[in-house]
Amino acid sequence: MKRWNATIISWMIIILFLVLLFYVYNEWNGEHHLYMDEEAPLPDGLHPLVEENKNKLIEIAASHGIEVIITQGFRSFEQQDSLYEQGRTKPGDIITNAQGGQSYHNYGLAIDYALRSTNGDIIWDIHYDGNNNGQSDWFEVADIAKELGFDWGGDWSNFKDYPHLQMTFGLSLNQLQRGMRPPNN
Ligand SMILES: [Zn+2]
Repeated sequence: MKRWNATIISWMIIILFLVLLFYVYNEWNGEHHLYMDEEAPLPDGLHPLVEENKNKLIEIAASHGIEVIITQGFRSFEQQDSLYEQGRTKPGDIITNAQGGQSYHNYGLAIDYALRSTNGDIIWDIHYDGNNNGQSDWFEVADIAKELGFDWGGDWSNFKDYPHLQMTFGLSLNQLQRGMRPPNN
């Protein structure tokens, strides 16, 4: 009888552990994004501070003789999903691994930049030195952006996203998916 009880208790502990594991797993997977709309509305543009720093970036870069072009800003979940399908169910090359809700662009917290060369072309050449100061304009812009508080995709080790700048406010994508928002959203 004692042995039997011990077995039951062991199984109960295992089941409780599995339930806990399942709960934690769901949390981490952002399953709670189902309730997101009730918790916090999604923005429909750039966060005010991102907008402000984007303008400062353009201004400061201009004072260094660099013309910055912002090629991407806020992207809705629908736009992100559509972008994700490119190269998968739609023609073109794969350009993103992020589906709706998996990019800081979807929360108005990211921008992408490019440069306008002296002859007026929009370029993505990270070695271009249009202001002739011996430094790559692209990296100069990244340095200015980082000073303004942006994280730069060119610093990522696994997948380098050179045009990408984001301000996370310390929030992970999981937290954003679960409805958490930066202040003054
Ligand atoms: Zn980006």
